[in-house]
Amino acid sequence: MSRVLAVDFDDVLMQTTSVFCRWHNAQFGTSLGEEDFTAWGLSSKLGCTPSEVRVRLVSFYQSAEHQDAPRVVGALEALETLKEHGYTVHILTARDEGARSASEDWLRANMFTYHALHCLDHLPDSTTRGPTKGRWCYDNSAQALIDDGDHNIQDAAAFGVPAFLLTKPWNVSYIAKPPAVRAGSWEEILSLLSTSGLLR
Ligand SMILES: [Mg+2]
Repeated sequence: MSRVLAVDFDDVLMQTTSVFCRWHNAQFGTSLGEEDFTAWGLSSKLGCTPSEVRVRLVSFYQSAEHQDAPRVVGALEALETLKEHGYTVHILTARDEGARSASEDWLRANMFTYHALHCLDHLPDSTTRGPTKGRWCYDNSAQALIDDGDHNIQDAAAFGVPAFLLTKPWNVSYIAKPPAVRAGSWEEILSLLSTSGLLR
């Protein structure tokens, strides 16, 4: 029987925030870098309301810069390894349905293959918010969640789902407690999955 693995999109597969910062700086005259985001959420650093954050994200998803964004180092190879171990890869993203085709185009151009992309719409100001990632993992018997949002990791752990937090500037202060674990790279995530008995 195939095993389900849930993987986040932004900053786990795609190097989103650094590219978003470059796009935002050009569009709005800011001088932001990934390292400026030391807590979850864009609103305070962008200096605008949550609804305006949503407008800007939606615009970014349709940009050429989005389509040219690089992969997170090791992500493609790691997903191949996971599939070789019998995992069915489900991509869980906070993006909305409107971003589906741009997201799928990027995944295709970057040679990712996966079972399904779930647009849960956890963007600011959402009116069609899907289940939390922890809830989704629990309902779909996911073996683990891999994400860079500590709120998602915490949520999955609360549902008893092993969760792997990819270290980024916005989550460094979070202290991961089992079944949540922090990892600095995809290479380390594979190694931790292996020691957790999840790569047999
Ligand atoms: Mg993310």
